Amino acid sequence: MNPQRILIVDDDPALLEALPAAIELRMDGIEIETAETADAALERIRIVDHDAIVTDIKMPGMDGLALLAEIKRLRPRTPTLLITGHGEHDLAIQALRGGAYDYVAKPIDRDYFLASLARALQVRQLDRQVEEQRAALERHARVLEHVDDGVFLVDDAEVIQHWNLAAEAILGIPRQAALGRSAGETLPNWDAIAPLVPVAKTPGPGSQQAATVPLELDERELWLSISGVEFADGTVYAFRSLTEERALDELKGEFVATVSHELRTPLAAIYGSAQTLRERRHELDDASQQRLLEVIVQESERLTRVASDILLAGRLDTGGLKLAAEEVDIVPLAREVADEVGTSQRGNGELSIEVVASTAVAPFAGDRDRLRQVLINLVENAVKYSPSGGKVEIRVESDNGRLRLAVQDRGVGIAQGEQRRIFGKFYRVDPNQTHGVGGTGLGLYICRELVRRMDGRIWVDSREGHGSTFFVELPAARSTVAV
Ligand code: ADP
Repeated sequence: MNPQRILIVDDDPALLEALPAAIELRMDGIEIETAETADAALERIRIVDHDAIVTDIKMPGMDGLALLAEIKRLRPRTPTLLITGHGEHDLAIQALRGGAYDYVAKPIDRDYFLASLARALQVRQLDRQVEEQRAALERHARVLEHVDDGVFLVDDAEVIQHWNLAAEAILGIPRQAALGRSAGETLPNWDAIAPLVPVAKTPGPGSQQAATVPLELDERELWLSISGVEFADGTVYAFRSLTEERALDELKGEFVATVSHELRTPLAAIYGSAQTLRERRHELDDASQQRLLEVIVQESERLTRVASDILLAGRLDTGGLKLAAEEVDIVPLAREVADEVGTSQRGNGELSIEVVASTAVAPFAGDRDRLRQVLINLVENAVKYSPSGGKVEIRVESDNGRLRLAVQDRGVGIAQGEQRRIFGKFYRVDPNQTHGVGGTGLGLYICRELVRRMDGRIWVDSREGHGSTFFVELPAARSTVAV
C-alpha cells in the first residue's frame, strides 16, 4: 500500500522537529512533510493530496483558521487537526466549526495527538476506498449504459436502482419513471413473470439459460429473453427483446398458411374442372365445356404466378437478378397494363381503368418487363381492394427529370399504421382473408425491391375507407442496371 502523507504546518521549529519524530516512532508507512508558513503549506497542498494535515492555529501571516478555510476549499476531504494554545477554547471551537477534524491543545498530549491523527488517517483511508468503489460502480454503470441488452438492478427491497439506456429503449420506460419504484409497479405483470426468470447465484457464462417471458406493457406485449444474477444487495437482470423474432416466426407461420391456401384454391378448381370434363363431358354443352377449360387455364396461370412470385422474391433476396437497360415509353406501357388488367376483370362492370398522361413524358431507360410487372401488381391490387368498384386511374407525369407514376383507387384504403408494413415480405393486412381476397403478401415486396433496383422510390398515400394512391418515382434516364 502507498504510504500515507501528512503535512505539518508550524512556525515553531522545535515542534516541527518533535511532532514528526513522535509520529515516526509510533506509526508505520507514513510520509511527513513540513511547512513553516501557511503560504508554503498551500503551495504543497495544491500539488499533493495529503491524507491528513496538522497545523498550528496561531502563525504570523495567514493563521491556522484561514489556512483551514483554504484547505476546505482545495481539499475538502482531507482531515485537518489544529494545534491550539493553552486555554484557547474559543479558537478551538471556531476551528471545529470551520470544519477541523479535531484540535489538540498545547502542551501537546502526545498520546492523544497520535490517537487522533491515527483516526484521521483511518477516516481518510476509508473515504478513499468508498470513493474508489463509487468510481468503479460508476465505471460499471457506464459500461452497462452502452450494452445492447436491457439491464436493470433490483435491490433487496425490490426497488429498482439501475435502469440502463437499452432498458429505456426496449421497454419504452424512461429511467426517471423506473428508478426508486418497485419492479412490480414499473412492469405491470412482473410479479407473475418474476418466478419464471432464472436467477444465478454467481455470474458466469452458461451458468443458466434465459427464460422467454411475455411482458405486458400499456398496450403492447413484449417477449423478453431474460435472466438474472444475484449479488450482495439485490439482483441484476439482463434481457433482450424477442418480439421481432417472434413476429417473424408468426409471419412465417402465416405465410405457410397463406401459400397453402393460395395453392390449394386454384388446384381444387383445376382438379374439379378436369374431373368434370373427364367424367361428364358428354352431358355438357360446348359453352359449359369451354367455361371449364377456361377455369383450368386461368387457375393454372394463377398457380404459376404464385410460384414465380415466390421464386422472384427469393432471387431478389439473394441478389441474383439482372435488370435490362432499354428505352421505355411509359404511356403506351401504362395503356397496355390497363387493357390487360381490364380484360381479366371481365364481369366487374362497375370498375374502369383509365390512363391519364401529361403531354410530354420523357422515356424511362430501364427494364420494361420489370416495370410492367410493378404496374400490373399495383393495378391488380387497386382492382382487388376495390370491392365495390369505382375508377382506377393510372397517372403518368414527369417532373424535374424524374418520372412519376400514380395508381389511384377508391377502394378500402389502408390504415395509417399499415402503410409502411404492406411493403414487407409476406405482409398482408388481412391474412385471414375475411374479405375473401387472396394473395401471398409478396406483390408489394416485389414492387418495392424492383423499384429500388431501378433507383426509384415507391410509397403509398391512403385513407381507410376512401381509397389509396401508390406512387412510383423513377429517374428519367439511366444506363445499365445490374443487381
Ligand atoms: P397481397 O395482395 O398478395 O396480399 P401485396 O404485397 O400486394 O400482397 O399487398 C400487401 C397488402 O397491402 C395486401 O394484403 C392489402 O391488405 C394491402 N394493399 C395492397 N394494395 C392495396 C390497395 N390498393 N388498397 C388497399 N389495400 C391494399
